[in-house]
Amino acid sequence: MVVNVFDNVAFDGHELLSYGHDERTGLRAIIAVHNTFRGPGLGGLRMWPYGSWGEAVTDALRLSRGMTYKNAMADLPLGGGKAVIIGDPARQRSPALMHAMGRFIDRLNGVYITAEDSGVSVEDLRHLAECTAYVTGVKGGLDADGRERSGDPSPATALGVFAGIRACLLEERGSDLLNGITVSIQGVGSVGFRLAEHLHAAGAALVVADVDRARAERAASAFGARMVAPGRIHAVPADVFAPCAMGAAINDSTLRELNAPIVAGAANNQLARPEHGVMLQERGIRYAPDYVINAGGVIDVSAQRDPHYDADAVRSRVLGIADTLRDIFRRARASGQPPEEVADRMAEERFGRR
Ligand code: NAD
Repeated sequence: MVVNVFDNVAFDGHELLSYGHDERTGLRAIIAVHNTFRGPGLGGLRMWPYGSWGEAVTDALRLSRGMTYKNAMADLPLGGGKAVIIGDPARQRSPALMHAMGRFIDRLNGVYITAEDSGVSVEDLRHLAECTAYVTGVKGGLDADGRERSGDPSPATALGVFAGIRACLLEERGSDLLNGITVSIQGVGSVGFRLAEHLHAAGAALVVADVDRARAERAASAFGARMVAPGRIHAVPADVFAPCAMGAAINDSTLRELNAPIVAGAANNQLARPEHGVMLQERGIRYAPDYVINAGGVIDVSAQRDPHYDADAVRSRVLGIADTLRDIFRRARASGQPPEEVADRMAEERFGRR
């Protein structure tokens, strides 16, 4: 079957779509660049056993578009791109495959810059970096304590979400103090656990859930958090619900049961459908647009391209997510639009669509 990319539901004026194949390693990959108005398209490399080329193309188109919006709202001099490798990361990942992927990226001469995403580790990126310079998040400079950084974006993501939660509280209650505040966290993995650390240190009470029980128990014992079943975390009475697991945390059934006036977390694609944002607004629930609040990781990763990585400057840019959110909320109040629609329009202005 011939797949016409221009008719794909996820096609949105993308600038480039490139297919890569390497006979020796069996690499089958796609690079999508959505928009380069602000700079080269930066976005992670995902490896996933897609059922078909069409599915992989749709994912690459959708994810690269998301990166244009995210990078624009993080005010980075970058456009949006994404790469996907079709394959099972548990069985098919190898240094040779990553070398082939590196050569594929290199051929595009820097219009696309890659980084880590699901199914790909920092170790894989190191192999990839042997064949191209257009990769980041492999290894940063030295952090403030003089320790070598790993390239892992989750600490910066968690810090940005923490700052974003405080911005929401300030808007909602006139104070961003965490004492006496309860935050429910769905998913205490790389980002969720670090977010819990910040919130606990600032005095918040925590409720956690994770499908991996050991992870939930670890958070419960580290922070005195209450543990609930994964299927009920959205319904727990709390001041903030922080989705930090997979997408679509806000859907037809969870929305009805939400019991928190603020939804602010790290997960990508938190709204199952765009109309769920409108429904949140109708219920008087403040939503921090996901790609704005979770941009700490990309801010950090993009800074790692600079040989003179400045940890303090990165930290202050990540904390600036709070200001961006407050600006979005101000505009939302003035226009009556939901915050995620306001964010989209702001991003589009920034990447030259308006
Ligand atoms: P992770 O895999 O380390 O953690 C996710 C956790 O959620 C895991 O512990 C998993 O067991 C748990 N989980 C999965 N389904 C669940 C469910 N239904 N209910 C409760 N728990 C569930 O991933 P991460 O790196 O912490 O990322 C979390 C989310 O944030 C993802 O959506 C990711 O795309 C997004 N994000 C991450 C970063 C980053 O820097 N890592 C940056 C931007 C966005």
